[in-house]
Amino acid sequence: MWYNNILETIGNTPLVKLNNVTEGIEATVLAKIESNNPGNSIKDRMALKMIEDAENSGALKPGGTIIEGTSGNTGMGLAMAAIIKGYKCIFTSTDKQSKEKFDALRAFGAEVIVCPTDVDPEDPRSYYSVSSRLEREVPNSWKPNQYDNLSNTQAHYEQTGPEIWKQTEGKITHLVVGVGTGGTISGAGKYLKEQNPDIKVWGVDTYGSVFKKYKETGEFDKNEIYPYITEGIGEDFLPQNVNFDVIDGFEKVTDKDAAVMTRDIALKEGIFAGNSAGAAVAGLLQLKHHFKPEDVVVVIFVDHGSRYMGKMFNKEWMMERGFLENETITEITK
Ligand code: PMP
Repeated sequence: MWYNNILETIGNTPLVKLNNVTEGIEATVLAKIESNNPGNSIKDRMALKMIEDAENSGALKPGGTIIEGTSGNTGMGLAMAAIIKGYKCIFTSTDKQSKEKFDALRAFGAEVIVCPTDVDPEDPRSYYSVSSRLEREVPNSWKPNQYDNLSNTQAHYEQTGPEIWKQTEGKITHLVVGVGTGGTISGAGKYLKEQNPDIKVWGVDTYGSVFKKYKETGEFDKNEIYPYITEGIGEDFLPQNVNFDVIDGFEKVTDKDAAVMTRDIALKEGIFAGNSAGAAVAGLLQLKHHFKPEDVVVVIFVDHGSRYMGKMFNKEWMMERGFLENETITEITK
């Protein structure tokens, strides 16, 4: 049995029980390992769906150029699909992202333009502005706009949600997901709540992001916005893919807790996952008083640890930020 091309291997990722990092939680906690997708992240699902929907609507034409502001994972999914389908890719990203992510995109033939992180989205130097300008200037180009393109949510409504429902045999009681564009939580959460309205859906947010305050007060508070280190989650604006009606609440996790937990997942579970998996598990631990022993909690591990070798998996980087102390290092290197 074989697949006709790499895109056919997207999805149907495993659900794996966490046994050690969830100490103190009596509920069953299951991680959906999305790094098993061919581009090593959950974003393969929505990248392909956005492309297919744009082909069907005529927005993306043969030989076209895909232009997107992406932190890497969406870019990887788009670049992979572009190779199979004959498109070119230009990506804009911020200088806060791991270099490994850019190199991986370039390996797939994409052009990557690195933009400054600490400027307003409206600033002409921001990665949003640069990708919008390129879309106007490059002929036969199409910008997926993963933040507001609802094909993103739809991919998770059609795939991620149903897979979780089937894999847990309908026993899932809680879904915990790091929120960036909002596509994963909104799509999977909506599907799961349609099967069982009692399922609770929790978003994990960062300090420096607007989501939690907006959910709780309805206020878009600019004071919530400041630079942070955690990658892939939290935003300084409200993407259309974040469906606040599907989300029961948000939990904010510090950069340190997310980084330390990312390492712990590798050390204690043998699962090499990315930084937002660490944030999601740290958030889940903060929520532990909500869980009963019979509960089945699903947490999404969005991407692969290899993209964070220069950061969370680098001891010096961790120590420079005060995220690791000497004793911890001694223990790890033993
Ligand atoms: N984690 C990582 C590593 C990501 O790249 C993203 C996407 N920005 C997310 C979590 C959040 O997923 P979503 O965009 O579906 O909310």
